[in-house]
Amino acid sequence: MPDTDILIIGGGATGLGAAVDAASRGYATLLLEQADFAAGTSSRSTKLVHGGLRYLRQGNVKLVLEALKERGRLCANAPHLVQHQLFIIPIYNWWHGPFYGMGLKLYDRLAGEWRLQPSQSLSRAEVLQQLPTVTPTGLQRGILYCDGQFDDTRLAVSLARTAIDHGARILNYTKVVGLIREQGLVTGVRARDTLTGKEDEYRARVIVNATGVFADDVRRLDDQGASPMLTVSRGTHIVLPRTFQPGDSAIMIPQTTDGRVLFAVPWHDRVVVGTTDVAVPAVDAEPRGSAEELDFLLEHAGRYLTQRPTSADVLSTFSGLRSLVKSGAGKSTSSLSRSHVLRVEPSRLITVVGGKWTTYRKMAQDVIDQAEQVGGWEHRPCRTQDLPIHGHGVDLPEAWHERVYGCEASDVRATMPDAAPLHPRLPYTAADVFWGMRHEMARTLEDVLARRTRALFLDARAAMDMAPTVAALMEKELDWDASHTQQQVAMFMDLARGYLPPGA
Ligand SMILES: Cc1cc2nc3c(=O)[nH]c(=O)nc-3n(C[C@H](O)[C@H](O)[C@H](O)COP(=O)(O)OP(=O)(O)OC[C@H]3O[C@@H](n4cnc5c(N)ncnc54)[C@H](O)[C@@H]3O)c2cc1C
Repeated sequence: MPDTDILIIGGGATGLGAAVDAASRGYATLLLEQADFAAGTSSRSTKLVHGGLRYLRQGNVKLVLEALKERGRLCANAPHLVQHQLFIIPIYNWWHGPFYGMGLKLYDRLAGEWRLQPSQSLSRAEVLQQLPTVTPTGLQRGILYCDGQFDDTRLAVSLARTAIDHGARILNYTKVVGLIREQGLVTGVRARDTLTGKEDEYRARVIVNATGVFADDVRRLDDQGASPMLTVSRGTHIVLPRTFQPGDSAIMIPQTTDGRVLFAVPWHDRVVVGTTDVAVPAVDAEPRGSAEELDFLLEHAGRYLTQRPTSADVLSTFSGLRSLVKSGAGKSTSSLSRSHVLRVEPSRLITVVGGKWTTYRKMAQDVIDQAEQVGGWEHRPCRTQDLPIHGHGVDLPEAWHERVYGCEASDVRATMPDAAPLHPRLPYTAADVFWGMRHEMARTLEDVLARRTRALFLDARAAMDMAPTVAALMEKELDWDASHTQQQVAMFMDLARGYLPPGA
């Protein structure tokens, strides 16, 4: 008999959440991730923990309600990683005021006991005080509301560590390349260590496919003729210096020319502007925004900011792929379902797709409930509604280190107390690099520069400058030979060029 109860394929928000849920119910749990944790869509979000105002506009009250409840739970379970963020909708058309004001009152009501702070109307002067660089011409007033904001990969790493705290085994750089079937049922997987090439077999009683936009690929390992469940779209962001938006509040632009919502959100002393929504025909592990998407973001940011950004101001640009569950042909991708879907194949392979970061916990609960049914096991109640997430213990984190590491911040600093920043434009020191390798399973230069620290996302050129120094630290700690170190630097430089704006 296998010694694993539940094997989860995929280490993004959904898979990591499922591993926490399964392990905390006492199931022997194994998670396999082909690259690094959150290397896919889960590192490329807009960094919002939110109900989703635009789903309210689409009339999807159930989805908003669920997400607002999950927002509240996440704020309580990971107060070190999720902060309250004030958003302002600047109003330039008189009728937008009552329209969005009423929508936000409904948003407040739906949040109920989970409400963070009531929305309120702001005068023109108040808007200009909180958003000193918002375009003043034609500005009439504003509406202020509160949502959550987070660092997606830091939450992913903390979830991996929470799952481990509860006894799960979690492996990155382990790609599932085949499914083992016995008498028509999936009983295990064949997986390859993508850094060493070594292959192994892992057996489990129940197998969960939580591979996001790759879910159909894994379903085809089970049944070559499986018809696709997903359609995919790309969302691109740009990252600008804080001088473009120096206040603490975020801007919410409720309607772009293509009918989308656009955000400009302060994040780690930068401003993230996004996102676009472009249908893509194929899944790419490293999606890149087009020049048109970049122009769209610069153009819309420029309409609302006194200083119009150009591509020379862009510190980094990153894109992620949305997995949208198919709900009939002929619809535009922005109106397809964002809620999650579970599917059990005749082989008993369970696939979980859709949803959003904010609702990862509920998706995990649903998929592990489903796994119990597939396994024919007695139901064990879910424990994650109020389960603290690793690092929990700092309620009002002040320093950025506490907002990244929670109660472990002082341990991280103690690794190298006198370490100076590795780059003048970023706060990271050698202590962050060593901590990532020793405690957070960082195995490549990209892991450290893109996901343990966020250097690549915050300032791609600074990350490129830092790469040789960080690689030298990793060489010593991980016993790399010189040629491996060189290869790591070359691969990172190649990747990082894709985070610079086209033509830079
Ligand atoms: C542009 C954009 C902005 C977004 N902004 C927000 C936001 O602000 N707030 C919010 O709540 N949500 C947001 N979302 C949604 C959210 O990011 C996603 O719902 C969530 O990250 C999906 O997580 P996932 O685990 O399902 O997929 P992924 O993060 O893609 O994880 C799947 C993982 O499976 C791995 N994998 C694939 N194949 C294999 C294999 N064969 N073997 C092993 N591993 C495999 C991949 O490497 C990947 O890491 C946004 C999405 C996009 C695209």
